[in-house]
Amino acid sequence: MSGGGGGGAPLVERLLDVIEDDILPLTEAGVARGNKIFGAAILQKSDRSLVLAEANNEIENPLWHGEVHALKRFHELPEAGRPDPKDCLFLATHEPCPLCLSAITWAGYDNFYYLFSHADSRDAFAIPHDLRILREVFGLEPGGYNARNAYWTSYAIPLLVAGIPSPERQRLQNRIDELTAKYRALSHRYQKSKAGNAIPLN
Ligand SMILES: [Zn+2]
Repeated sequence: MSGGGGGGAPLVERLLDVIEDDILPLTEAGVARGNKIFGAAILQKSDRSLVLAEANNEIENPLWHGEVHALKRFHELPEAGRPDPKDCLFLATHEPCPLCLSAITWAGYDNFYYLFSHADSRDAFAIPHDLRILREVFGLEPGGYNARNAYWTSYAIPLLVAGIPSPERQRLQNRIDELTAKYRALSHRYQKSKAGNAIPLN
């Protein structure tokens, strides 16, 4: 992280724990209500404790992507106990879409981490909108935004894992494979349910 260099195995382990233990249960409940599979969490940099986790809630409002919904909830916390975004890690299950890239920027984070890429969203999870919006609205091809810029540095968790020596690398890759299977199952549930929903880009 800016403030940490991306992090090694302990950070990756913690981020995968948060996805599995905190984001995934909220997402399972959200998908049962008709929402998409995307989620996010905010952690303190200092001790990697969870500030909050949230899931997509487009059934209520098409802007409540997992990341934006987490930011909304964060700013509903009492100001007194709320950490400075500069002292936080931002975690997204999926590479943030153009809306969420901007939201993370405007909300003052200097980093974000994600598990699945835009291409995964399109190819594995049948959500092509991120890449389509980047191309149609911004004229950007896949990978065309600045993954490191004056505001933040972004980290793809699988790339962090690839840089970790074995046997830790293989163990963490196995965890990613297990999470991928769980998200594929959730995606299947969402795709079966989405015909009846009112989400504009479902
Ligand atoms: Zn988004």
